[in-house]
Order: sequence, then C-alpha cells, then structure tokens
Amino acid sequence: MELKNKNILVVGLGVTGVATARFLTNRGASVTVTDQKKEQEICSTDPLIRELGIRIELGPHRIETFERADLIVVSPGVSHTILPIRRAKEQGIPVIGEIELASRFIAEPIIAVTGTNGKTTTTTLLGKMLEDSGLKVFIGGNIGNPLIEYADIEEKAEIVVIEVSSFQLDTIDTFRANVAVLLNITEDHMDRYPDLDAYAKSKARIFENQRHDDTAVLNGSDPVVRSLSRDILSRKVFFSSKEGKDVTISGESIISQENMSLLLADFKLPGKHNMENAAAASLAALSAGGTFDGIRSALRKFKGLSHRLEYIDTLNGVDFFNDSKATNVDSVARALETFERPVILIMGGRNKGSKFHTLRDLIDKHAKELIVIGEAKEDIKADLGNIKPVETAATMEDAVFKAYHAAKPDDIVLLSPACASFDMYNNYAQRGEDFCRAVANLVTVHGSRFTVHS
Ligand code: ADP
Repeated sequence: MELKNKNILVVGLGVTGVATARFLTNRGASVTVTDQKKEQEICSTDPLIRELGIRIELGPHRIETFERADLIVVSPGVSHTILPIRRAKEQGIPVIGEIELASRFIAEPIIAVTGTNGKTTTTTLLGKMLEDSGLKVFIGGNIGNPLIEYADIEEKAEIVVIEVSSFQLDTIDTFRANVAVLLNITEDHMDRYPDLDAYAKSKARIFENQRHDDTAVLNGSDPVVRSLSRDILSRKVFFSSKEGKDVTISGESIISQENMSLLLADFKLPGKHNMENAAAASLAALSAGGTFDGIRSALRKFKGLSHRLEYIDTLNGVDFFNDSKATNVDSVARALETFERPVILIMGGRNKGSKFHTLRDLIDKHAKELIVIGEAKEDIKADLGNIKPVETAATMEDAVFKAYHAAKPDDIVLLSPACASFDMYNNYAQRGEDFCRAVANLVTVHGSRFTVHS
C-alpha cells in the first residue's frame, strides 16, 4: 500500500490515533489528526506528534478537511457513521480503520477475538496459552497496544493475537484473521446500532475474508452466532455450554471431547461464561499451533482480570465482588448466575439503550435487593423496581454502605452495573477502583473482618 506523499486524515487523537499518525508519517504521508475534543480534554497528546510535523485539528469537525483527504483512517472509538465520514465516502474517499491499515503491513498469522462479552479475558488467556507453548506472541488490538504499533516494530512475533470490537470490524476491508473467534452476541451498543441484526452483521465481518483453510471458533450455544455460522467458509469448530460448567465441542475436530474436558478441569475461574472463554481460547490456541501442555499450563495459572467478577474482600461474612466491566445486561446475567448465595446488586451508570427488564427472572432468583446509582437509576427502577426492594444511592460510597447494611453474613455485594461509567467516571476501571476504595473504607470503619454482624 503506497502511503508516500498521500494526504491522510486520522480521526481520533487517542493512543491509537497518535500511533497511527506516527506510523503514516514514518512512511512519508502528510498527516492531519482531527478530534472533536478541546485541547485540555485530550489526555494523550504526544509531544512527538508535533515534532513530526503532524497537523492537529481540534474542536468541531471541518467537513472540508475530510473531503480533501486521499485516505481517512478511523480510530477504534470513532463511529464510521458520523456526518463528515459519510460525506467523504459519498465523494469516493476511502475510509478504513486502524486494524485494516495495520493488517496490510503484517505478514504473521493473526488470531482475532470478538463477541459482546469476554473478549479481553479470552484474548489475554489465549495469548498466555501460546506463550506457554513456547511461541513469541504479540497481544494487542483493542486491549493494550494498538495493532499499528506492532506493524512498526522491527522485532516480530511468531503470532499476533488481537481483540477486536464491532466498531473496529465496521471499518475493515481486506483484514483477514487466520483464526477468528466469535464468543457471543447479545444486545449492547444499541445507542450506536439500529438493531441487534445490524450489530450481529458487524461482528460477523470477522469471518469475511477468511479462506477455506482458516479456522472459525464459534459459540454453538448462542443462537445468533449459530445462525451467522451458515455463511462462514472456513473450517468451523464449536464450543457449547448449556447448563452448568460442562463444555462440549463439535464441528471439525481438532481435539477429542475427552482431552478438552481434561484441559478445562484445570481451569478455576467462576461461572459458565468463563468456561466458555476457556474453551474458546483453547480451541483457538490449538488451531494456531499451541501445545496441549502450554494450554494446560496457562489454564492452571490464569487468575482472571481486574474488574471482571473480581473478588475484593470479605467483611463480617459478606463477600464483595467488583464487576465494573459488566456494562451490558448479559454480563450482569452471567454474574448473577454464578452465585448461589443471595446478592445485593449495585447497578446503574449511563444507559446505552439496554433492556433491563430482561434481567427480571434472574433478579428474582438471585438478588435480595438492588441499589441503583447514576443517570440510569430511574430507568432501572422502572424496569426492575417491583421485584425486590430498591434503594437509590448518590455516590459509590453511599451505594456500598447501603448494600453492606442490607446484607447478612454469607450474602454477596456485587457491583455489576449493566451501564457505561461515563456519567460519573472516565472509564469502567475508575468506577471499579472507586468501589474497591469504598469497600476498603467500610472494612476500616467496621473493624475486624472476622466478627459476624447482625
Ligand atoms: P469484553 O472485553 O468483551 O468487554 P471482558 O473479558 O472484559 O469482555 O468481560 C466484560 C464483562 O463480561 C465482565 O463483567 C465479565 O465478567 C463478563 N464476561 C466475561 N466473559 C463473558 C462471556 N463469555 N459471556 C458473558 N459475559 C462475560
């Protein structure tokens, strides 16, 4: 792909936008980066970007800048449907995402993981499986390092493992994953897609350029994923878990059911959803040259990631779990299903167009009380208010305090918001940290963790 002397516009000045601009400049392109944010809102302006002579255009987008470009590269967080991009497309200007650009400069095999939930957990675990199999691995994409940074480094890995979101898949063209994993498709981002069908089609693009000898790893127990699988040309391998923790496999066989069960027996994270992630990662690792022993070793060692159903502490018999990354209803459903003991559930934040009422049965079965916070509290109350007692909290500290006082020994206090965090925080991690701080304060105030409170 020729970039020299091309006039290229990068949309979005986050970590990926900066890396993309640098990559393009190093290849002789004339680069402008645009972002709707104001100077003081940009947290990652890299001094290098100015030194390299890259133009920066902040504030409201100028359509002329888009229409003047020879090529537009969109950062992962930017929707390809914004007006200036639509206009540029109408003029025939090519618009691609950073993943597409990067993949054109990568020769190594790529394994890509997508799905509504479980991407980061599965991608991380899969990377560790391949590393423990003795391979040199780059892990990135939507987590950690942008793929474009890998395209620029000299010391290459043997295999590239990336997490990809639906927004990133919206802007691919020739991007091909040698192994592509689709974990699940449930309702999310309904503020950005017209309906579930459009969202599912966007996810299915991960298989679009696969060849016959590539592999698709698919969730056979997810009806939307199953229906999409008919159009996939590569060899298909399914994992499936309906009840409990047993995961079955089907499709083109790459491992016996017996050996798969042997592998998963060593995996200790709670919840059937995590067994699905482990099965998906194992199948992808096997398809990409991972060894049985390497996969088993990674499964044994994996402790899970912060903010995903993470155990925090116990106070007077009450266990606290931080699941701040649960930003849609299915992840909350999976968290509730995991616990057999009564749950005091803290929910709320910014509503992304979620149908909270779909949680009614699980709330009825697993929750003892709801504590609602943030912008979505009235929506949640309207959808779930008449099943179990609901209290409103003004802050996370207040929510944790109220949840603890509603709990009895052996109960669980769970932050699993079903909402985005941006009404109160910069991101889900900040929200999770605030929860952990509030739990720590409670532990300090209430003294010993070992006396039983009444
Ligand atoms: P993603 O990167 O897709 O957001 P994460 O691994 O970060 O996925 O997990 C996000 C949330 O989804 C957490 O609350 C986690 O407990 C939950 N989760 C993880 N795996 C799954 C799965 N396979 N199905 C449903 N929920 C899941």
